[in-house]
Amino acid sequence: QGYTVVKDGINKWCIPKFGKMRVDAVIYVNDTLKELLHEDQSLRQITNAATLPGVVKPVIGMPDIHEGFGLPIGGVMAIEEKGVISAGAVGYDINCGVRLLRTNLEAEYFNKELLYKLIERIEYYVPTGIGKKGRHKGITRLIFDDVVHNGVEAVIKAGFGKKSDLNFIEEGGKLSGADISAVSKEAQGRGEEQLGTLGGGNHFIEIQQVDSILDEKLAERFGLFKGQIAVMIHTGSRGFGHQIATDYTKILWEAAKKYGVDVPEKGLAAAPIDSKEGKAYYKAMAAAVNFAFSNRQIIMFDVIKAFEDVLKKSSESMGFQLVYDVAHNIAKWEEHGGKKLLVHRKGATRALPAGHPQNPSFYKESGHPALIPGSMGTGSYVVVGTEKAAETFYSVNHGAGRRLSRNKAKKITKEEFEKAMGDVIYNVRSFKDIVDESPLAYKDVEEVISVLSERGITTPVARLIPLAVVKG
Ligand code: 5GP
Ligand code: MN
Ligand code: MN
Repeated sequence: QGYTVVKDGINKWCIPKFGKMRVDAVIYVNDTLKELLHEDQSLRQITNAATLPGVVKPVIGMPDIHEGFGLPIGGVMAIEEKGVISAGAVGYDINCGVRLLRTNLEAEYFNKELLYKLIERIEYYVPTGIGKKGRHKGITRLIFDDVVHNGVEAVIKAGFGKKSDLNFIEEGGKLSGADISAVSKEAQGRGEEQLGTLGGGNHFIEIQQVDSILDEKLAERFGLFKGQIAVMIHTGSRGFGHQIATDYTKILWEAAKKYGVDVPEKGLAAAPIDSKEGKAYYKAMAAAVNFAFSNRQIIMFDVIKAFEDVLKKSSESMGFQLVYDVAHNIAKWEEHGGKKLLVHRKGATRALPAGHPQNPSFYKESGHPALIPGSMGTGSYVVVGTEKAAETFYSVNHGAGRRLSRNKAKKITKEEFEKAMGDVIYNVRSFKDIVDESPLAYKDVEEVISVLSERGITTPVARLIPLAVVKG
């Protein structure tokens, strides 16, 4: 393996550069989570990323780190302008992300019967599972071009939600620079059909209860209170982003050879940011980013409709309000330490601190909410980044992270699964299809959350627990 891991303060470990590494790599874990790291290739993967041209110190592994294609999930890699862009360091599900909705509804009135009705109705409106087509495809086909170039504003114009929702989405629901001409016809075809769908496996719509408030002031700013019903939506850019990632991994791999970029593995295929291929990837990636924000917007609209149907109340009277929408697979231009950097986050969430100018105006003084799902049987968190998060390019973990690979998780028994789910209601499907999403397949979210909060990088605001989940 060749590397050494050196402790560097609270919950932080450094892999000093060696061999072809241009910069050090850093991982944030505690002693317990650190043990899990040697079971997969994630450490080797961050050291590989540290060899890419233009990489800025350090390449980071978040507490939920686990092996991925190229960069590990839970990886952050910042690159200077003269460096490279990598599709594998964004991931296959471009702008996979999380959106949280709050209500004024109290969880104590939500019995099992009601929860079953709600998830049934949600599934009626939101197509779930891999390869499913959207129910709104008649409309979404017509506005597709507008969606990829202008993001959520385009779907709001078409009737999905309200204009003010834009103030509660990272980047205002639009990453500029998108250009459909950089996207293959195949990707466009998949995208047009799949806008407004949840997708498979790890994606979910979860009815949650605010279980505890950990920071009173911030919770109040975010409109969260104990006992409140909230809804968390996790999905991304569906077949559209996946096809773009597939296409550009090939294109960037060839381009790397052409430009003489030394790429340690295919998953990190990268080309100079200002090359023809690098620019084209950015344009296509931005299109998928806009698609994914819009996808979550349409799903939010459908979820609210399901609540309206079942509870026979209006969205306003139930107090539905978007808290925030964050991306966790994305590459973005940001300023850090006075330098313009292309920050690749793959399974990592941006978390700007109070006062940071890139916060949306409503959250300028508090810092915006960063959303961290745990699993369908455990807690999920809302946190805020602190000034100290500058050391992670203002990034935090995006989840609890897998502990078991999908194959290993298949060995979990039905009894173990049901015990881990407790009273949480889930959509009916075969055990075989859902077992690899068992809470036991994920790391202990409490442990993972404590890593960055103990270090002073995050302030936990609220913990939410699942009541019912629609799994993709
Ligand atoms: P990913 O984007 O890497 O697939 O997943 C993000 C995180 O979501 C995972 O690391 C895991 O901690 C969390 N997660 C996966 N499934 C569920 C679920 O059904 N409910 C909740 N609340 N979290 C989940
Ligand atoms: Mn995803
Ligand atoms: Mn995701």
